[in-house]
Amino acid sequence: MAAQICILGAGTGGTLTANRLRKAVPDALITVVDENDQHVYQPGLLFVPFGLADAEDIVRPRGKQLHQGITYLQSAIDHVDIDGQHVHLADGSLLDHDVLVVATGSRLVPEETEGLLGAGWMDTVFTFYDLNGATALARALDEFDGGRVVVNVVDLPIKCPVAPLEFCFLVDWYFHERGIRDRVELTYVTPLDGAFTKPIASKQLGGMLAERGIELVTEFNTGEVDGDRARLVSYDGREVPFDLAVIVPVHSGAEYVGRSPGLGDSLDFVVTDPHTLQAAVAPNVFAIGDAANLPASKAGSVTHFEGEVLVANIASFLDGEPLESAYDGHANCFIETGFHKAMLIDFNYDTEPVDGHFPTVVGAPLLKESRLNHLGKLMFQWFYWHALLPGRDIPGVSPEMPTAGKHLPTPS
Ligand SMILES: Cc1cc2nc3c(=O)[nH]c(=O)nc-3n(C[C@H](O)[C@H](O)[C@H](O)COP(=O)(O)OP(=O)(O)OC[C@H]3O[C@@H](n4cnc5c(N)ncnc54)[C@H](O)[C@@H]3O)c2cc1C
Repeated sequence: MAAQICILGAGTGGTLTANRLRKAVPDALITVVDENDQHVYQPGLLFVPFGLADAEDIVRPRGKQLHQGITYLQSAIDHVDIDGQHVHLADGSLLDHDVLVVATGSRLVPEETEGLLGAGWMDTVFTFYDLNGATALARALDEFDGGRVVVNVVDLPIKCPVAPLEFCFLVDWYFHERGIRDRVELTYVTPLDGAFTKPIASKQLGGMLAERGIELVTEFNTGEVDGDRARLVSYDGREVPFDLAVIVPVHSGAEYVGRSPGLGDSLDFVVTDPHTLQAAVAPNVFAIGDAANLPASKAGSVTHFEGEVLVANIASFLDGEPLESAYDGHANCFIETGFHKAMLIDFNYDTEPVDGHFPTVVGAPLLKESRLNHLGKLMFQWFYWHALLPGRDIPGVSPEMPTAGKHLPTPS
């Protein structure tokens, strides 16, 4: 009998996994489920507030991204019966499976922060982390004529941890372009003790904020967004006033994970082996992308690199072979820095971003602003729809982090 593989979520991870499995395990019956039919190219959300992209550029139908022979179902997921090997859909129907892949990403939970959805929401308080928010923010920025703009990450983990910094660099460029930069005070407010999590990149990015006159407020744990008084209030009583606040809300896993005993952690992220991508709850359950509780960035690049390992491991599982512990935490991010430049970082679980070149000694510069990296960032959208989602290999780019072009510290 053909194996039944059920993939929950038709975003980056679910789509590329389904398309790769179609080739790797051609006899399998593959079903992909998602609650809506709008596949958003999420890195494009960064550009929407500045009028550099709009919904038509970054949204495509989900079903059309899946290869022939893959079944696409549009429904919300209610819960998973792990032992019975069924997925219960919101419409009451059941999906049986031999192998389950959880690819339902992470969700924004702004309601977790006091006041965030209250006075000022979508008027003076916005997020660019979803399409509605990014579109509304574009209008607000267009009308903004001067004052205090505050960019705040409420808590980690978040998708693409560099995106709020990119927003700071772009908004600095945007106000320069409009000729009103001298009338705008920019502040980046983070719960971290520096601009970023990784020390070398954090120092560099912190320096770049300072060069641009963007104030950095660290170790700020936002307890309340007080829209009436137009200020962020931390749990320890500090306040940051604003005229326009751009908030990255708290993230969690999908709600149904919490209704599926044993599958998730306290934030509804799936407890997953960081190297094999097998879930702790059962050997036939796997997770990919933002849905997994891995110590890796929640990023499309991570999801892409995981996909190759995941598909090989599902094929091994179906053949009764041991799984390869092959995923090394490889992440690769272009960081848009404004003025038509970008930086590139490449790292994994054990190696923090260092300088050098990617993917080898000749290539894009690492940890350095360049026009080449900006072009890379723009071209990535084409790669996303035409190579990454269809499950094609990208020449010279492998799941394993390359070391050839990197200036790595000498081991002591
Ligand atoms: C502003 C922004 C900028 C970003 N920039 C970059 C970047 O430059 N580079 C980069 O690598 N990454 C970037 N990312 C992150 C990247 O988009 C995500 O990490 C990636 O899409 C994760 O893929 P995924 O498959 O895990 O989740 P997703 O692509 O989010 O897919 C999850 C899917 O699950 C579905 N789903 C969820 N719950 C249910 C349910 N109960 N029932 C049915 N379906 C459900 C959703 O509808 C969705 O389609 C950015 C993200 C944002 C928000």
